[in-house]
This record gives sequence, C-alpha cells and structure tokens, in this order.
Amino acid sequence: MKDENCIFCRIADGDIPSTTVYEDDSFTVIMDLSPATRGHALIIPKDHMDDIFEMDEKTAGKLFKLAVRVAKAMKKALKCDGLNIVQNNGAIAGQTVRHFHLHLIPRYEGDGQSILWTPGEASDEERERAAQDIREAM
Ligand code: 5GP
Ligand code: ZN
Repeated sequence: MKDENCIFCRIADGDIPSTTVYEDDSFTVIMDLSPATRGHALIIPKDHMDDIFEMDEKTAGKLFKLAVRVAKAMKKALKCDGLNIVQNNGAIAGQTVRHFHLHLIPRYEGDGQSILWTPGEASDEERERAAQDIREAM
C-alpha cells in the first residue's frame, strides 16, 4: 500500500525520480543519493514495510535472491574488491528512512569507508542465555 508521506513509496511509484538499476513487480533497485562508494545501491520493496520486523519470509527470500544477483553484477561491472550488505532497522540502528531498504555497498581498496562495530564481551553463560531466548522465540 502506497504511503504518500513515504519517500521510498513515492520513488517506487515513480512519483519522485531516482536512478533506477532494476525493477520488477516486487522491488526496485536504485542508486543511493549520497553514496558511500561508487555504485552504492538500495533494494526497496515496492510494498511499504517499515523495517525487517514487518517483512514476510517469502518476500525476504525473493529479496535475497535479488541481492545476490545485484552483488554479482556489481563485482563484474564495477570491479569492486568487496561488498557490504547493510540493513538498518529502527533509529537506534541508524535507519533514517522508515521504509525497508537493503544497502549494497561496493568496497574498493583505499575507499576510506568503515562499516564496523566495536567488539564487545560476553561470558559463555551470557551467550547461551541470549541464544536460548532467541531460540525459544523462533
Ligand atoms: P538508512 O540510514 O535509513 O539505512 O539509509 C537511507 C539511505 O537512503 C541513505 O543512504 C540515503 O542517502 C538514502 N536516501 C535518502 N533519501 C533518498 C532519496 O530521495 N533518493 C535516493 N536515491 N536515496 C535516498
Ligand atoms: Zn513506504
């Protein structure tokens, strides 16, 4: 369902222009307006969903198949040395546009970018408890 107030709904609908790489019934792939590196693209589902918590598994399957296709095309076309897939959910995680999107960020030797977190610590018990909590919710 299109949300008039959502920038990515409007892009997916063609109301707002974007540089499009690919489009099908379910997704559009566009170039990021402020690319981290050359070729930084976004895969956007055409149906509005705020984040991963609103995505169904069938759509997720199609999404990742497309991500693999785009990633391989990037490697071939852009000769990138690596590639980050980034997907932010919620403001705390850095999401600024509240319409699900998957970042594909080609990486090049010396590109100066950094997509890292600070490694933390957890005891065996803490890791096991976290695993158990998640397992029980699945
Ligand atoms: P987030 O921080 O939500 O994971 O990423 C949002 C991304 O969308 C950013 O990388 C930003 O540059 C990109 N972006 C925001 N507005 C537009 C737009 O109007 N067009 C395009 N192509 N990208 C946008
Ligand atoms: Zn939307």
